[in-house]
Amino acid sequence: MEPMFTPALHKQRHQFVIDFVKRKKPKKVADLGCSKCRLLKKLKFQREIELLVGMDLNAAKLKKKMKGLSPVSTDYLQPTYEKLRIEMYQGSVTEKDSRLRGFDLMTIIELIEHLVPDDLERFGAVVFGYMAPEDVIVSTPNSEFNHLLPGLTGFRHTDHKFEWTRAEFKTWAQTVCSRYGYEVELTGLGEAPQGRQESVGFCSHVGVFHRISKSNVLPGDSGDDLSYTLLYSIDYPSLHDNKVLQRVLVNEVVYWMEKMKDKWMEEEKHGKTDDALTPCQTEGGEKEKEKEKEEEKEEDDDDDDDDDDDDDDEDEEEYTASACGAEMKTPVDPCGEGVSHQGDEASGEVRWTSGQRHQETSTLHGCMSVPLALLWSSCPKVAALSGSVGNLRHLLTDNPEVELSQNGSCVLVHSRQRDQEEEEEEQQEKADKSKDDAEGSQGSHQVKQGDEWETNV
Ligand code: SAM
Repeated sequence: MEPMFTPALHKQRHQFVIDFVKRKKPKKVADLGCSKCRLLKKLKFQREIELLVGMDLNAAKLKKKMKGLSPVSTDYLQPTYEKLRIEMYQGSVTEKDSRLRGFDLMTIIELIEHLVPDDLERFGAVVFGYMAPEDVIVSTPNSEFNHLLPGLTGFRHTDHKFEWTRAEFKTWAQTVCSRYGYEVELTGLGEAPQGRQESVGFCSHVGVFHRISKSNVLPGDSGDDLSYTLLYSIDYPSLHDNKVLQRVLVNEVVYWMEKMKDKWMEEEKHGKTDDALTPCQTEGGEKEKEKEKEEEKEEDDDDDDDDDDDDDDEDEEEYTASACGAEMKTPVDPCGEGVSHQGDEASGEVRWTSGQRHQETSTLHGCMSVPLALLWSSCPKVAALSGSVGNLRHLLTDNPEVELSQNGSCVLVHSRQRDQEEEEEEQQEKADKSKDDAEGSQGSHQVKQGDEWETNV
């Protein structure tokens, strides 16, 4: 049979909730009687929601469907700053559970008609009196519409205990309001054919309740009622989690460093080299120091709003101080925009490039050194994720995937030539060792003993 409504009525109910969420931006939302979790699956995309709870009497139904609420690979690969926690409970709207108190919004879609009169009373006391969310959306069938539903005799579902007229729904809603301190706006979904709207109303009643009493903690409530069973909970990856932030940032830095390295190696291959620049150590150092100071000041100003704990701030201060001191020893590109290629560290040879200008000597033991300030200013995502050069350094320090220069001002990448050389060296060492071993086993016992003795000493 063709659906009577376009979109289908259940979709209209869910869209009504989504539109409400978009307008009011609640942070804590619970869907009671969530059944197959269809509404929850839509609500999880409303990024203002930080805690999304589903609850239903039927655990089997929940267990079958709730896995569809898990994060997908994009949530892990491209996490956002929004936080989202999802919790799924098996329970009854007639029982108290303190974990569902203090919500911004509760939705109870097509549930109350499944309750016998005593349970309906309890439902009112539990949801409006005890859980007392700021807003509640309730929907239930409108019995006046039933004769327009083709082939329907009796209730719309065999488990329904009642179906109300508009007047009955209004009476119930007003009683709840006066008892528990709410006001209600009555509306509906599923329009009747033209000319019949006034006489039958909508297919579904909808009541939007808003709490007017200030406190949602009733006297005598201990808050330790835990009658629901937690079936599932998940915290979505969020950039607010330092570990997640670090992982994403490191991936981005590694990606950029690989790109820069490719470019460098390509240019080396084609012999494209520009004049080497003389590093202006002092000026560069002073610039870095000024930048650091500015950042420190900004961080101090932001202290009150900062989520990080005090320990982190201390670390950052200590770190910045030592970096400034060390800066004089290692040159930084004068414009703060250079990429330096450091030669063999043993030779102490350091040459510089600026912008696209590359140094001449990319030695066999070459190493590309990219100032964090350059990385920060040329990679928008790195800048957005870290917020400041100081913070970038802080987040990269001690990360095994990123090598920082001794004073922590640059990221270092070794050339493939060097990688190759190291590999060759290793191979050579291995070959030498097997040769030695072979010789040792042929009787030069004395020498071997001597070697071992020396190693032990
Ligand atoms: N809200 C769902 C939606 O919008 O897709 C549909 C709800 S379905 C018609 C009614 C649900 O209420 C069923 O899943 C049923 O298990 C649940 N239910 C019935 N009595 C309940 C109770 N006392 N507490 C919690 N859930 C209950």
